[in-house]
Amino acid sequence: MGCHFPVSGASNVHPSRLKDIHGNYQPSTIPSKGVNSMQTSEDPIGCSGFSRRTFFRYAAGASAVASMPILTEAHLALAQRPHFNDPNIGIHIDANENPMGPCDAARQAMIDIVPRGGRYLMDMEEDLTNTFAKIEGLDPESVAAYAGSSEPLHYTVLTFTDKSKPLVVADPGYEAPMWAAKIAGAEVLKVPLSDPKGEASHNIKAMLAASSNPGVIYICNPNNPTGTCTSRTDIEYAVANAPKDTMLLIDEAYIHLCDAPRSLDFVKDGKNVIVLRTFSKLYGMAGVRMGFAVGRPDLLKKISVHGGFNALPITALAAAKTSLLQADLVTARKKIIGDTRAQTLAWLKSEGYAATPSESNCFMVDVRRPGKEVQAALASKEMFVGRIWPAWPNSLRITVGTPDEMMTFRKSFTEVMNSSTAGLTPAPLSRRLAEHPFTHLS
Ligand code: PLP
Repeated sequence: MGCHFPVSGASNVHPSRLKDIHGNYQPSTIPSKGVNSMQTSEDPIGCSGFSRRTFFRYAAGASAVASMPILTEAHLALAQRPHFNDPNIGIHIDANENPMGPCDAARQAMIDIVPRGGRYLMDMEEDLTNTFAKIEGLDPESVAAYAGSSEPLHYTVLTFTDKSKPLVVADPGYEAPMWAAKIAGAEVLKVPLSDPKGEASHNIKAMLAASSNPGVIYICNPNNPTGTCTSRTDIEYAVANAPKDTMLLIDEAYIHLCDAPRSLDFVKDGKNVIVLRTFSKLYGMAGVRMGFAVGRPDLLKKISVHGGFNALPITALAAAKTSLLQADLVTARKKIIGDTRAQTLAWLKSEGYAATPSESNCFMVDVRRPGKEVQAALASKEMFVGRIWPAWPNSLRITVGTPDEMMTFRKSFTEVMNSSTAGLTPAPLSRRLAEHPFTHLS
């Protein structure tokens, strides 16, 4: 209940009244169809508690689509964080961050480059994209670096969706593309994950059937929030059967954490596919900011109309290149996170709680009561867990933290689940954050 925000009650401009990139106002209603279509009165992040007013204010204040705020995991996690606490106080397993941070060599690379910080050093960006392209056997022209993958995600949706070309997503799924679609005036078609109590993978055939002319089909592999993978066969099916002009946006933010086949070969084969990669997850560089869009050069050029022409921080470029060159880093970190995840999932199972069969650094656990209440009760113990998705109101997303953090999680979780949480709600955000949530964009 209560996941709908009536637009009529909002005091600010609805995003569908925003100007498009040509300066024209978007229509005031977004076409809707199908039971899972996101209606104008429904918010992509549903009951998240994110300040809709704030979003509208920012959106209304911007003069063109290209300058709209880009919502990222950090914002979405913050929107449901009951208090703004010092991240050094309490345990924060709410934003799919990597508590290990950048590897030692990346830290040293950042320190070493700092004295040169007075220079733009544009060639470092090319060096990074060339390095990645070489490792992956890609044409360097099909790799574009950004300060994280949120930007190319946002730009891809803005480029290929509009009021007649919907966005198709899995549900529950990562909300950022839905916000971008809303800005583009595009309908969002949410397709439930198949076998939700089992594999919880993308229902690719249903996603393809959801629209005859989707602008973008977004496949998050592994999926945020469930951590579950979609099979290569299904992804191949999507590539082979999507309408000619549809963009398949394959988000591989968490791909290093699993063994699932990668999708970069579709780019090599010249398909209508853009793959996103980030250094925020396995590489522990969420706060440092670096990511890639990988796609045919003509597609990368199209999305670059919206942004991505700014010089990138040389610290991030240095750390990213160094991270890529660490031979055992991916394997070692994948094992550390995978072991902690497996132990936590096994423990939850032994306690009688169902969780998604994650292959990533997050999973959903069914708490069999309103997830919001459990989230609030855990927060009162300074245990900050992830948000709730409207489609699964009794589940919480948990990020895999350090082994010690996950032991503390077990203790807090047991205490909370043995107590009554009825009526608990997370405390509202502080005024400062409610009014100014776009921390890294402001
Ligand atoms: N895609 C997914 C699925 C994510 O979960 C995130 C962040 O958590 C991102 C993209 C964006 O991350 P960043 O901008 O830090 O690369």
